[in-house]
Formats: sequence, structure tokens, C-alpha cells
Amino acid sequence: MQALYPGSFDPLTLGHLDLIERASQLFERVVVAVLQNPSKNPCFSVEQRLAQIRAATSHLSNVEAAAFDGLTVAFADRCGTAVILRGLRALSDFEYELQIAHTNKSLAPQLETLFMATATAHSFLSSSVVKEVARFGGSVRHMVPTGVAEDLVRLFNRTSQSQA
Ligand code: ADP
Repeated sequence: MQALYPGSFDPLTLGHLDLIERASQLFERVVVAVLQNPSKNPCFSVEQRLAQIRAATSHLSNVEAAAFDGLTVAFADRCGTAVILRGLRALSDFEYELQIAHTNKSLAPQLETLFMATATAHSFLSSSVVKEVARFGGSVRHMVPTGVAEDLVRLFNRTSQSQA
């Protein structure tokens, strides 16, 4: 069975990566799907996010990364996956995630949404927290894969220089 793990991944965190690693042991193939959502004004381009995911998951032979826009259920259908995977960090994630899962079910009854609890150690992590810390010069090396930490330093060094 294959699973689709959709999200913004702007950028990938160690929480995302932990979930991908665990999912890769449960499913034959895991597609990490980066949503192209221009309205979210992302820090990293889709190409950068795909490169970050591919570098961080190079040790997992059954994981691949792809970009998509439009409905997640339509992309799951195109990929031939029957499972949409989402992570739950805290109760606060639950209400939103349940609403999306029910919506997706109403659109594509053959698809199942599976929730995986995040690793306790990473349950405080979100892409926005990581960006906030990196923007103000804090170390994010314990929050993201090495390549992502380097990309964040480059991004915010450039931004602060261009503002100076
Ligand atoms: P979205 O904009 O779709 O919420 P995210 O990149 O923020 O995209 O999250 C993608 C998925 O990863 C979601 O299911 C989210 O709950 C999950 N996720 C976010 N942070 C973590 C974390 N620290 N550990 C595990 N899963 C996470």
C-alpha cells in the first residue's frame, strides 16, 4: 500500500522527517507531496522544498517527493495512493485536520486519511516556529535537517543584508 503525505513543508522539519521515516516502514511507497499554494507566500520555492525533502530522505529508498496544486484527493488519485497521511502534534491540530479529512472523504470516499502522532521530542516543532527562530538569528540545527538549516541561514542572511 502507498501513502501520500501532503503539506506545505516550508521548510521540512525534523518532525516531518520523523513521520516520513516511520511511514516508510509501514507503507511500500510514500509520496511526500509539496503543495504549490501561492497565497501562502512561502519562504522557499517548491523546487527548493523538493530538493530539501529529497536530500533529507535520500536514505529511504521507498520515499519520493513531488509537487502538486489543486485538490489533494485529485493528486492522490493521480498517484494511485489510497491513503492520505497527516501528522497530529496536539489537540489544537485535531479540529482542523478532522474537518479536512471529512471534506476529503466526501470528495473521494475510496480514500482514507490516517493520522500519525508526532514524536514527543518534535511535537513543539512547526515550520513557522523554525522560520521565526531563524529569522532572528537563533540556531535551528536541532529542529531541521542540516541542509535546511543551511538554507535558512542563507535566506535570512540575504534578507537582513538587503534590508541594511
Ligand atoms: P500544512 O500547511 O498542510 O499544515 P505543514 O507542512 O505545516 O503543511 O504540515 C504537513 C503535515 O505535517 C501536517 O499533517 C502536519 O500536521 C504535520 N506536521 C507538522 N509539524 C509536524 C511535526 N513537528 N511532527 C510531525 N508532523 C508534523
